[in-house]
Amino acid sequence: MIKYVYDFSEGSSDMKALLGGKGAYLAQMVKEGLPVPSGFTVTTKACLRYLQQEKGFMDALWVDVQAALSRLEERMGKTLGSDSDPLLLSVRSGAPVSMPGMMDTVLNLGLNDETRSALAAMSGNDRFAWDSYRRFIQMFGDVVKGVAGEKFESLLDDVKRENVVTYDNQLGPDALEDLVCRYKTLYKKETGEDFPSDPMVQLKLAVEAVFDSWNTPRAKTYRKIHHMADDMGTAVNVMAMVYGNLGDDSGTGVCFSRNPADGEKKLYGEFLINAQGEDVVAGIRTPQPIAALEGVMPDIYRDLSEKVENLESRFQEMQDIEFTVERGKLYILQTRTGKRSAQAAVKIAVDMANEGLISKKTAIGRVTPDQVERLLHSQIDPGYVPEVLAQGLPASPGAAVGQIVFDPDEAVRLSDKGESVLLVRPETTPDDIHGLYAARGILTSRGGMTSHAAVVARGLGKPCVSGAEDLLIDLEGKRLIIGDRIFSEGDVLTVDGSTGRVIEGSVPLSLPSISGELETILDWSDEVSALQVWANGDTPDDAKRARSFGAKGIGLCRTEHMFMAEDRFPVMQRMVVAKELEERKAALEELRAMQKEDFMGIFREMDGLPVIVRLLDPPLHEFLPRVSELDKRIAQAEESGQDASALRKVKDRAENLREVNPMLGFRGCRLGLVYPEIYEMQIRAIFDAMSELTDVDLKVEIMMPLVQTKREMSILKEMVLSIAGEYEAGSLKYLVGTMIELPRAALRAGELAEDAEFFSFGTNDLTQTCLGLSRDDVEAKFMKDYVEKGVFKLSPFHELDRDGVGELMSIALQRGREVRPDISVGICGEHGGNPESIAFCHSIGLDYVSCSPFRVPVARIAAAWSAL
Ligand code: ADP
Ligand code: MG
Ligand code: MG
Repeated sequence: MIKYVYDFSEGSSDMKALLGGKGAYLAQMVKEGLPVPSGFTVTTKACLRYLQQEKGFMDALWVDVQAALSRLEERMGKTLGSDSDPLLLSVRSGAPVSMPGMMDTVLNLGLNDETRSALAAMSGNDRFAWDSYRRFIQMFGDVVKGVAGEKFESLLDDVKRENVVTYDNQLGPDALEDLVCRYKTLYKKETGEDFPSDPMVQLKLAVEAVFDSWNTPRAKTYRKIHHMADDMGTAVNVMAMVYGNLGDDSGTGVCFSRNPADGEKKLYGEFLINAQGEDVVAGIRTPQPIAALEGVMPDIYRDLSEKVENLESRFQEMQDIEFTVERGKLYILQTRTGKRSAQAAVKIAVDMANEGLISKKTAIGRVTPDQVERLLHSQIDPGYVPEVLAQGLPASPGAAVGQIVFDPDEAVRLSDKGESVLLVRPETTPDDIHGLYAARGILTSRGGMTSHAAVVARGLGKPCVSGAEDLLIDLEGKRLIIGDRIFSEGDVLTVDGSTGRVIEGSVPLSLPSISGELETILDWSDEVSALQVWANGDTPDDAKRARSFGAKGIGLCRTEHMFMAEDRFPVMQRMVVAKELEERKAALEELRAMQKEDFMGIFREMDGLPVIVRLLDPPLHEFLPRVSELDKRIAQAEESGQDASALRKVKDRAENLREVNPMLGFRGCRLGLVYPEIYEMQIRAIFDAMSELTDVDLKVEIMMPLVQTKREMSILKEMVLSIAGEYEAGSLKYLVGTMIELPRAALRAGELAEDAEFFSFGTNDLTQTCLGLSRDDVEAKFMKDYVEKGVFKLSPFHELDRDGVGELMSIALQRGREVRPDISVGICGEHGGNPESIAFCHSIGLDYVSCSPFRVPVARIAAAWSAL
């Protein structure tokens, strides 16, 4: 017999798969003696069998549920449906992985006209009983029968208006009784049935509804976005109610053991007096910050602080806790690992390791490469003082600029077109999830730091300002009114989720620097990593940035980028166009002086660290205008009677250099073999720079591109050696190596290693040539179809093709090391900044990955993850 129902006292926190996260943690808390209302959990297995529509299963399950209910009634000394002392229940879903706001909950189950009277009599509080009743009908109608929540809300608004009050807690018993009446009428109108008065029927329908909620579109969307499996199912927790709506000595709230936005170690959260359930997160009234609880209920505040801290040390993780106070007594209703912003994740991990709560390695494992990437997202320059339109809560850090839209579907439509949008809503609900996902940033006028918008935004790493109460949002008219200003859909605003500011227009954003806890966690990462992280950089500025982001070297310095600068381009063109060797050499001498300056700047920045300089790689025609452009210029010159002979000369050369397939043509070391004077100039410029930098610790490596035969490598090595001989004997220390970017080079790596002192995998070209896919064409043409058809999981230009390109790399590495055991090997393609590809590089034993300077921090944490 499989057990489908567990009393809380029978479970524990390691039973998440079976009891769901909520159930497992409730059970653990009961075990540890925390004040949790009594209850039981129906397992995820039961949910899956129910969803398979197995005949007779529900009847069999119900026998077990009834038995568990009897035990619960006995423990509580109350009976479901009793007209003297009725037990009321909450029915809560709880999946194995937390899905905030995704699944549904029904509170106060067991109420009908009779039990309501009994509840009123027992509590001596008629208002409370009516309030609980109206909440129950609304939740049951919404969750179980799919009656739109807004329809109930709009009746509530009517009653509030008629009674001239602003908030629900100001409604008296008569008004609430009236509301219950209207709710029942609505329920009947919408469902065609009377509201079910039998508590056992209510319970069964509610349990089934929770099971069914596993497959609602919004739950499915959430799982899809977060790459979660569909076959886990949800558990159902049935527990005794405790009441936060019994009066001013009662209340409900949520709190975190640390601040989920910035990670500060301080009790953090919100509460509402005389309220129940989701009032706090639903943005019905704006809740008070938890610190205020100390003034209102000092004992409770102290008790709660202590329990929260204990829970955190027990689970060694930041906790997100729901609590309710019933007439001065504290109950804990849920605890789970708290979601947090990227900034908070880093701070909490470092703090906890420093406190001795977790190890450094655990700390590293708690910061994802994704989060590090997000931290490098834009911020408003701290020095810039913007004009602030309105102030809300700093719900999720970072800044975003975009056109405002009011509708989630519109947000998706515009962002698909590549527009940057801000989603502006009074508050958000799980039905808006696609819009939140599409938007750059989120702005709400209602709700606190724990509102739906805030929680989801932090999870997605999007800037969010919530509860900006000065905003008047006219959803129908698609207008946002702030004071006497009116903004329409499409107007551009900036939101700053780090400070809560709403700003007119587009504010210039800047990248934050690496400091504080981020620096610490990245330093720890370097300690555990086997792989080093280097950067690709072509200028002294790149080098400086790379170094400040923690790069341990320059893995690829592309000399051709230096020729693109305005003052160099004409000289470069002269060199390319030259027909005679002498003419070319004259231009090259000029370039040599320029290159020398560039190299000096970079070498100086990288003092003490290796710099790999790659000699000229692209086809020469890239330095000339297109033939069609030249035709145009020649025609213009002739029209105005100027001499076009020079332009004609350029055109001749451009035509002469034109190739059908330039990426497989006259480029890379082929240039250096055919026009040795070009490479000789570059090598001299490198040595010139080195000779002058006597005060710099130089680690220069010269790299040949697109080599595939031993002969090519030998000629080029000889070229370097002979030029080095022109300089003072023994004064230059450098390495000569090659890129491995052609399949043949990978296969013949053994003989290349006889000359090459290092390898660097150029995986952009290696992917292109190994797979026979043109990188410049396929992405636009058919890669999307190929990914959809499952040929590739992702574009192989984005995530390294382990099976093909990866195998070539392994072969090259092995053959190279056989010949030259201490050969240093890295990767300098785009893949060097991709976490999955980095894990692969680690697994085959590369020495370093080199990526764009901005990706260095991400690569550092990814390299550490590979080694955990
Ligand atoms: P979610 O997963 O969306 O947070 P929950 O099941 O945790 O849903 O519950 C929704 C709300 O109802 C929470 O605020 C919770 O604290 C409250 N709640 C749940 N069970 C009880 C109970 N037994 N007594 C009082 N409030 C409850
Ligand atoms: Mg909920
Ligand atoms: Mg909850």
